[in-house]
Amino acid sequence: MAKRVELYDAVVVGSGPNGLAAAITLARAGQRVLVIEGRPTVGGGMRTHELTEAGFHHDICSAVHPLGLGSPFFRQLNLARYGLTWIQPPLPVAHPLDHQPAMGLERNLERMVAGLDGFDGDQWRRLMAGPVGDWPQLAAMLLAPWPRPTDPLALARFGLGAIWPAQFLAQKWFRGAGAQALFAGLAAHSMQPLHWPLTASFALVLALLAHAVGWPIPRGGSQAIADAMAAYLRDLGGEIVTDQWVHRLADLPPARAILLDVTPRQFIQMAGDRLPSGYRHQLLAYRYGVGVCKVDYALSAPVPWRDPVCRQAGTVHLGGTLSEIARGEAMVWQGQHAPHPYVLLCQPSLFDATRAPAGKHTLWAYCHVPHGSFLDVSDTIEAQIERFAPGFRDCVIAKRVHTAVDMAAYNPNYIGGDINGGVQDWRQLWTRPTLRRTPYSTPLPNVYLCSSSTPPGGGVHGMCGFYAARALLAHGEMA
Ligand SMILES: Cc1cc2nc3c(=O)[nH]c(=O)nc-3n(C[C@H](O)[C@H](O)[C@H](O)COP(=O)(O)OP(=O)(O)OC[C@H]3O[C@@H](n4cnc5c(N)ncnc54)[C@H](O)[C@@H]3O)c2cc1C
Repeated sequence: MAKRVELYDAVVVGSGPNGLAAAITLARAGQRVLVIEGRPTVGGGMRTHELTEAGFHHDICSAVHPLGLGSPFFRQLNLARYGLTWIQPPLPVAHPLDHQPAMGLERNLERMVAGLDGFDGDQWRRLMAGPVGDWPQLAAMLLAPWPRPTDPLALARFGLGAIWPAQFLAQKWFRGAGAQALFAGLAAHSMQPLHWPLTASFALVLALLAHAVGWPIPRGGSQAIADAMAAYLRDLGGEIVTDQWVHRLADLPPARAILLDVTPRQFIQMAGDRLPSGYRHQLLAYRYGVGVCKVDYALSAPVPWRDPVCRQAGTVHLGGTLSEIARGEAMVWQGQHAPHPYVLLCQPSLFDATRAPAGKHTLWAYCHVPHGSFLDVSDTIEAQIERFAPGFRDCVIAKRVHTAVDMAAYNPNYIGGDINGGVQDWRQLWTRPTLRRTPYSTPLPNVYLCSSSTPPGGGVHGMCGFYAARALLAHGEMA
């Protein structure tokens, strides 16, 4: 029988940050790599497009990149050489409130402490000072296949706060409504009810990142990260084909290994009957989370914030107090649309003139909605913006809505609109997609998963792809 000719050492399906990170890691190790992407352009959750009108460049998915700048993998790459420029807005995050000044999350820890009331300022320092100094060690431990205690003291200092439900920690730790609300807005990135354990860890990591590296946006939009990674990969000899959906593993070109930047549900379909039934059942039991409804606006003017602090921030968290945000997030988990949702906003054109025609602006907004929601909730999002920026609706030239179902149609990895590739609670953070010694490996020889459905989970950091490729290099056929 003729020997099967293997053109590539590895084929990577999907060009999200993790697919590209896996491909780059393999290419740097001298492997011949092909990336196959279903959509016409590379990037996964890092694409920028004129979604509303000509000249308005909107980030379809990710927009703000504390995890990107804080990622040990990204730090190894010189993406500036390929055109990536980070912009740091003066304030990483603002959180407006109804009857008191907006809260600002400062980059500088001492300025942050000084901006809070005496007691809460001291508490903020107590919570953050140690872990901020420990960030490089923490990043290596937390953005990893499991939290390896290479620096047990740093992990313990972080873990003492991180294990708690965000709602409990915020109420116990801070006295002022402002500090509590700010903490809740950060914790709500978890996309979980704030009375769940470990939700405080999301607030802590995001606050630490603000102090340690900032919350930057890429000049030109998130596509700039994707384009820089793709250019680097090509320089390393890697190949990329786009506009080619992969439906079955059997359709892939011959290769010694396959890495899949997809979630368990697509993997089951691609593998067909090749998966052992035990593993297949484990994948079927994998849990996906709530969805998002995303709205992109073209504006005739900047958002008319009542509190000018909000104008300084790249990201603005809306939703009011801790209890309001906690209530809204809990409702979404119960399958209801929150009438006054927690809303995430990014206003990139204030800091990056390439995003909109002169004098005009783009605004990126989303809120959490029940899994699989097909509702356009842009009205409730706008009501929340109007609450803190009266006159906002008058600035809207055009808008484009993606419901949770639309998001899933746009990218098959967003099952039911879940943007993290699966729930990231304590049961599934380090056992994604299943409990395995090497979570990236599968029972199929040399077939690896490398998406955000593997540790350390969602966000643009490339660490899932990096570790999947490392696992293949260490244990796979390439070892
Ligand atoms: C609205 C929104 C806002 C977000 N905001 C942020 C943010 O500000 N900061 C941040 O860090 N993260 C953010 N995220 C999350 C971040 O985008 C994701 O966690 C990240 O992109 C996951 O990377 P990935 O490589 O695992 O998968 P993806 O980025 O989803 O990439 C998967 C790729 O695989 C392709 N693909 C899938 N199936 C197939 C197939 N069968 N054949 C061929 N190709 C296929 C898809 O087209 C896609 O290009 C946001 C996401 C969304 C949706």
